[in-house]
Amino acid sequence: MTVIAYIGIGANLGAAADTVRHAIRQMATLPGTSLQQSSALYSSAPVDAGGDDYVNAVVALETDMMPEVLLSALQTLELAHGRERPYRNAPRTLDLDLLLYADQTIQTPLLSVPHPRMTQRAFVLLPLLEIAPDIRIPGHGEARQYLPAVSGQEIFRLAE
Ligand code: ADP
Ligand code: MG
Repeated sequence: MTVIAYIGIGANLGAAADTVRHAIRQMATLPGTSLQQSSALYSSAPVDAGGDDYVNAVVALETDMMPEVLLSALQTLELAHGRERPYRNAPRTLDLDLLLYADQTIQTPLLSVPHPRMTQRAFVLLPLLEIAPDIRIPGHGEARQYLPAVSGQEIFRLAE
């Protein structure tokens, strides 16, 4: 049994665009997983934090991994890219968030799905809607209805 999972990617340290592209290739080779769709790369100003602009993207993975296993695989990739967590919202080489897992709602100490802040973030919504314009967020309805509320956030699509 496979499901579609959407992953939000962010990086704002070092060669951020290269890191995001590399992470996408790595996710495509996770066990029982294939890359179904990949958004363009976007650039966004940090929210509630300092540092350089972020490079963001969203991918759709088709996977047979259970959500906790997938999260742990994503965290292993973060660490492989030198991710440290010195303080909340610190600049990061790579941030991989599990946004959606099929149509499931998951609430455990380690994992909240849908990702609790995804409806408030232009850097999630724009790339997500690019690859899945009709996507619904369990418990929140259509993702696209949250776009107007984030229109003030600075974000642009990077050239290929
Ligand atoms: P953030 O992405 O919110 O800036 P972190 O990447 O440092 O923060 O994640 C902190 C913790 O969030 C992780 O240790 C993880 O257990 C937890 N977490 C809860 N839900 C999710 C999710 N849907 N995707 C990724 N991490 C999650
Ligand atoms: Mg994260």
